[in-house]
Amino acid sequence: MSNLRQRFYIENCPIRGEVVHLEEALHTILQKRDYPQAVQILLGEMLSATALLASTLKIKGRISLQIQAQGTFKWAMAECNHLGEVRALADFEQDPRFEQATDSSTVLAALSQPVLFINIEPEFGERYQGIVPLDQPTLAGCLMQYYDLSAQIPTRIVLASTEERTGGLLIQLLPRNSEEEQQFVDEDLWPRLIMLTQTLKTEELTDLSANEILYRLYNEEDVRLPEVEQLQFGCTCSKDKCINALIQIGVDAVKETLEFQNPIEMDCQFCNTRYEFTAEEALGLFGEHLS
Ligand SMILES: [Zn+2]
Repeated sequence: MSNLRQRFYIENCPIRGEVVHLEEALHTILQKRDYPQAVQILLGEMLSATALLASTLKIKGRISLQIQAQGTFKWAMAECNHLGEVRALADFEQDPRFEQATDSSTVLAALSQPVLFINIEPEFGERYQGIVPLDQPTLAGCLMQYYDLSAQIPTRIVLASTEERTGGLLIQLLPRNSEEEQQFVDEDLWPRLIMLTQTLKTEELTDLSANEILYRLYNEEDVRLPEVEQLQFGCTCSKDKCINALIQIGVDAVKETLEFQNPIEMDCQFCNTRYEFTAEEALGLFGEHLS
């Protein structure tokens, strides 16, 4: 059950949902940095949320959630692509408020002028960025509000995380076409599902398997489960991206860097991979040689 995403449908109803769990992937991400407990929980929830939202995309590419703030907490981001690869990172300075917090809501409440971005980056085609007001006490609350208002797809999201495991559940009432509108629908279904979903406890979301969660919540409904999808930690860094970054900063900046660092070292913050460029390689990018 450790790193997976389980889609579910309710037979003959315009309802779809997902349950995600991350364990090893979360562990891999959190061990790369020294995060306070509450920031670990926030990153865990952001990871579950991106894995849930990625399932709603029909394109190849990636979706990321990014919190930006002023003050000691600068940013946090989590990302999931169509292959089910996830990664996350946060940047902040030491702050007793984050050290003392034991949940993500306390961290969110302590942020100064925070903004949450939803970024969708298709492999081909235009990028999309949505801005989500961080004016609800929880990340799940902010995302639900965004979907209800901006996407106009009634959505319930539940997120939970510990330092060990993170889990999430998303359920959506899908739009129906005119033909489907004619069919008999159970008008109580959505309110009933909302009520059932609200009974899910944090520890159930992190500790129970997807099947157990879905059975516990919706055993009165006719739930259908397609094949489960695997998720894993994955980083999209590459030597080519480092080359592009060097070209971007320009030959003068590269020469300056070489004066105090030769070879040039570029570390990926997400996965700690180090990319090195000798003076010859770095200058060669600009068609120049060592003099
Ligand atoms: Zn990397």
